[in-house]
Amino acid sequence: MRPEILNPLFAPVTALSGIGPRLAAPIGHLTGQKVVDLLWHLPSGLVDRRFSPRAADAPEGVVVTLTLRVLEHHAPHNRRQPYRVICSDDSGEIALVYFHARPDYLRRLLPEGETRVISGTVEMFSGQPQISHPDYVVTREEAETLPRIEPIYPLTEGLTAKPLTKAVRHALERVPQLAEWHDATLVAREAWPAWHKAIAVAHAPDSLVDLDPSAAPRRRLAFDELLANQLALGLVRAHMRGSGGRVLVGDGRLRRKAVAALPFTLTEVQRQSLAEITDDLSVGRRMLRLLQGDVGSGKTIVALLTMLVAVEASSQAAMLAPTEILARQHYKTIAPLAEAAGVRLAVLTGRDKGKGREQTLAALAHGKIDLLVGTHALIQKDVEFADLGLAVIDEQHRFGVHQRMNIQAKGAGVHVLVMTATPIPRTLMLTAYGDMEVSRLTEKPPGRLPVTTVALPATRLEQVIEAVSRAIAAGDRVYWVCPLVSESETLDLAAAKARAEALREHFNDKVGLIHGQMKAAERDGVMADFASGAVAVLVATTVIEVGVDMPEATVMVIEGAERFGLAQLHQLRGRVGRGEKASTCLLLYGPPLGETARARLTILRETEDGFRIAEEDLRLRGAGELLGTRQSGMPDFRLADLSAHGDLLAVAHNDSKRILDGDPELTGKRGEALRTLLYLFERDLAVRFLRSG
Ligand code: ADP
Ligand code: MG
Repeated sequence: MRPEILNPLFAPVTALSGIGPRLAAPIGHLTGQKVVDLLWHLPSGLVDRRFSPRAADAPEGVVVTLTLRVLEHHAPHNRRQPYRVICSDDSGEIALVYFHARPDYLRRLLPEGETRVISGTVEMFSGQPQISHPDYVVTREEAETLPRIEPIYPLTEGLTAKPLTKAVRHALERVPQLAEWHDATLVAREAWPAWHKAIAVAHAPDSLVDLDPSAAPRRRLAFDELLANQLALGLVRAHMRGSGGRVLVGDGRLRRKAVAALPFTLTEVQRQSLAEITDDLSVGRRMLRLLQGDVGSGKTIVALLTMLVAVEASSQAAMLAPTEILARQHYKTIAPLAEAAGVRLAVLTGRDKGKGREQTLAALAHGKIDLLVGTHALIQKDVEFADLGLAVIDEQHRFGVHQRMNIQAKGAGVHVLVMTATPIPRTLMLTAYGDMEVSRLTEKPPGRLPVTTVALPATRLEQVIEAVSRAIAAGDRVYWVCPLVSESETLDLAAAKARAEALREHFNDKVGLIHGQMKAAERDGVMADFASGAVAVLVATTVIEVGVDMPEATVMVIEGAERFGLAQLHQLRGRVGRGEKASTCLLLYGPPLGETARARLTILRETEDGFRIAEEDLRLRGAGELLGTRQSGMPDFRLADLSAHGDLLAVAHNDSKRILDGDPELTGKRGEALRTLLYLFERDLAVRFLRSG
């Protein structure tokens, strides 16, 4: 249970005075639905109102606070002209300008003959100074209430500065004093304020220095978040470890048969990874290992051989893929090898319904299936294994921690191998997984030719068509990727359809179209035609992004390449260059190119090294976006910025280790405070793993 002291922070924002449903919607969109979300929304700038020159000296474009006498009101002759209030001090006159004014309101606000303290930005109009719509108009007595320095918050549509600032202020009023959860030595060394102070100060910047991520309060808050993250990961891991893993040791008989049926020999790095994995499986601790290998590096066969260890040890294994296409492809790849090994293989996806599905489930529950390949359909409630010992999760970043835990719950002490083609920099590894063992396929299977990458403006379409013609004439396959142009899938689809139509004028029925809204059976049909060569040009929205393996493909055309992320482009390019022929990747862009887009395309032209590309991507985009989406299982930090607080990550990692070594159930005094920290950052799931949580 969340400590009561935190409850005021976890109320909906509508609990704050002045926040009704109308404001709650954009606030929810911008920061989140809860009061605490407002606390995490730190200012990005500030307005300094301390400058109080004489009216005549007020410089254009600067925020000033002036003490002025109200001389006279000038109502406009027509609605289009502004309402003007002429004011002055000893130095001269300045006008206050209001569009669409309510005269009676302004007369009450600014009575003629009286003095007011006015703050706003000075403009020049026909050589005369004016302030249009001043931010503040108060009496001299009220001048104290006028903020000298105001934070500026990032805004969103439908939300202006005033109500948001007010909402944050009300949220800050609810901030409780919490027992310190950090190590006293660290706090002293870094000169960090207490949490409640840090949050207050971070929202009340005094100068630009306070807005810097290196400011002490901001660093403290970042560290709070990083420690919560590391601690939560540590707890999940300890829980997994604690519950033990089964010992899976095989005698190699099935693996030998499968390997004998391969048309190639395993690479050294594949062998090495397999050795690391079989070691993990044999020691009675649950494996959680990441197999990282660039696109085309040959992860699937490693996965299969891993699964065969489980079957040799008389248990079942499952492989989870993010899409129907991929699941079917894995099934197809694995089927002949499974047959050679004499292993019973089945596939289960959302498409399998009714009788067929029932039969598969029954066979699975009775142990008559050894290997099951499928999509999310595998983690549905009614899917029961006789004895699941190992799960492989392909393209891990498409799944969340929950899904991983769900598949693990389908057996006792289930080992997990996750696979990804996205080389994850160490900093991100730590924040996403904590300590996860990693095996890397650092070299590709032999005989791969480099892919020639060319970027060219979309206006040179003819040239692209020619390249495609040549490839088709040589009997090759071509991918033609149309981007997600807009928020609307329908519009995107229309663009892809139009492209397919246009290409049919050149290549007739050799053109196929595949997209996300297609029925699975239709999609399979198109893929089958592409595999057989009946379709030579496959126009696709990004559904082919991950994993599709088609050695005959030698040309990858990516339209609107400037709209894709670097990692995504690299993934797409990885679809070609898988066979013996030289391949080309054509990146079409709509000029003019922005700076970041240009940098991306340049990197892509320079290198095929996935690791370097990932690092560059991190640099260009920031951590949160690297792996695509928020649902990707990557934490989305609110306060920590890994490019600025990377040093703190290592500290948090070590600290959390020390904490869990000394007080694994978080029962001591500091442990108690750390539980509060976990709840503050909504790591409730992790707290549940504590015995007295
Ligand atoms: P990814 O790592 O992207 O999942 P795949 O497992 O799909 O890569 O493998 C890509 C291609 O490389 C497949 O056609 C596969 O048969 C082939 N391959 C895998 N291992 C080897 C190897 N040791 N030698 C030659 N080709 C291999
Ligand atoms: Mg793959």
